[in-house]
Amino acid sequence: MSADKYYTLAEGCPFASSSTAVLMRNRDGGGLGLLQDTQLIETLAHFSRERIPERVVHAKAIGAYGEFEATADCSDLTCASFLSEVGKKTPVLLRVSTVGPEAGSADTSRDVHGWGMKLYTDEGNLDWVFNNTPVFFIRDPIKFPSMNRSHKRHPRTHLPDANMFWDFHVGNPEGIHQLLVLFSDRGTPRSVRFLNSYSGHTYKFTQKDGSFKYIKIHIKTRQGVKNFTREEATKIAGEDPDYMIRDMFEAIERKDYPSWDVFVQVMDPSEAENYRWNIFDMTKVWPHEDFPLRNIGKLTLNQNPGNYFADIEQAAFSPSNMVPGFAASADPVLQARLFAYPDAARYRLGVNYQQLPTNAAKAPVYCPFERDGKMRFDGNYGGDPNYVNSSLQPTRFYPEVKGVSQNSLSLHTEHEKWVGEVTTYTSHMKKDDFVQPAALWEVIGREPGHQERTIENIAQSVKEVKSPKLRDEVYDLFGRVSLDLGTRVKRTTEAFIKK
Ligand code: NDP
Repeated sequence: MSADKYYTLAEGCPFASSSTAVLMRNRDGGGLGLLQDTQLIETLAHFSRERIPERVVHAKAIGAYGEFEATADCSDLTCASFLSEVGKKTPVLLRVSTVGPEAGSADTSRDVHGWGMKLYTDEGNLDWVFNNTPVFFIRDPIKFPSMNRSHKRHPRTHLPDANMFWDFHVGNPEGIHQLLVLFSDRGTPRSVRFLNSYSGHTYKFTQKDGSFKYIKIHIKTRQGVKNFTREEATKIAGEDPDYMIRDMFEAIERKDYPSWDVFVQVMDPSEAENYRWNIFDMTKVWPHEDFPLRNIGKLTLNQNPGNYFADIEQAAFSPSNMVPGFAASADPVLQARLFAYPDAARYRLGVNYQQLPTNAAKAPVYCPFERDGKMRFDGNYGGDPNYVNSSLQPTRFYPEVKGVSQNSLSLHTEHEKWVGEVTTYTSHMKKDDFVQPAALWEVIGREPGHQERTIENIAQSVKEVKSPKLRDEVYDLFGRVSLDLGTRVKRTTEAFIKK
């Protein structure tokens, strides 16, 4: 690239003008294009190829760079290097997105907001791929595409469709906890600066001796949680569909850097087995009273992207990106995500997506048994052996991370024997599944007017459902959380329909 910014062709050749075309002109001012006008051809051909596949979920996003700072001694929890010293700073990239709507949609839409965060640690990249909600709609991974389609556009009308949305959730009622969060004020956050983020899944902090703790991560905004009402969110969606992008960009430009405190809940494996809640069920939280939050760090965003496409659109996050000291649990949805996210990135960006500057580790990378492929743009490991166990040029390894890193869990998988043998599995609803949603309904009730707003938000959507039978089933679903909630959703929906 030319440092002094004189125009060249993409091949670096100096060029006289970027706004001329080579034509066979006629006297009336028309002209026939010539094949030899390679600049015109290249310019048009490149334009037609500017788009890469839009993410099927999480397309609309806001992003920025910043840093994670370790704020507490975590040596009793993990050997992860980024947490090894109080005050240690690690660069990060954060990308926050809505889930269902397309890249051009309003970022204030009522939706879960995804939180993709890459920590470029000195032991490689660790991605935290979280949400602004502590629970999720499903706990059986095979339902993921169905759940998302039901939140998107109808296959015939190409319209968002309340009938299929509620039909999905009545048929898959384990999402009731997440539905309550979604239709509460937290379903329409005021901007990225004012939302919290949660791992949802259980993860593990691991130690060099092979021991581990189960953890859940909570990232809490220092700006305070602030939300839009339904009316405000709808109005802003019309006036400024990019409201959240603008809010973040402008805050960082004026040096009003947003920050978050990072906490973990910590559970010993011995506590997991007999705990009331299945810790691998992501429709459940660990109540604070049972597992209090422990501070581990602080996150600050302080740099806007230099180029949106290069830094944010080309960013690829995956829960499978883990460093020594951090590992996945046996949550089936997490297990499926470990495969699905890198698979999506290979499709969307190409097989060498890890080399793109925004995804590239800042730690040294030496992975000579992954070679070639489209768009390889490092040295491709020169003449080093491209096969394992070479005696001509032996590869050196890090034996000390055996039993610590995700891919060599030889020691600490032992505990998970109690999870059981290989089996087919679909979760079924139990009465207990309504206990935590009921607790949330109480939490919502602590703030004056919040229950009423939540009910109206639900009713505003349910009133679009055509089938009275399906509407009744929705009332019943909320009625299983609290009879009063079910009755009030019904009453409010019917009042909206009559209007
Ligand atoms: P607590 O009273 O200790 O915690 C309640 C938490 O609810 C608050 O700390 C706050 O989380 C969160 N909250 C407040 N309003 C909303 C909302 N509209 N949507 C989602 N979360 C909200 O109770 P418990 O820990 O016993 O949990 C009770 C219920 O609170 C749970 O069933 C769950 O629905 C919800 N909750 C619990 C969390 C947990 O990890 N224990 C995390 C978040 C929600 P925060 O402080 O993170 O903002």
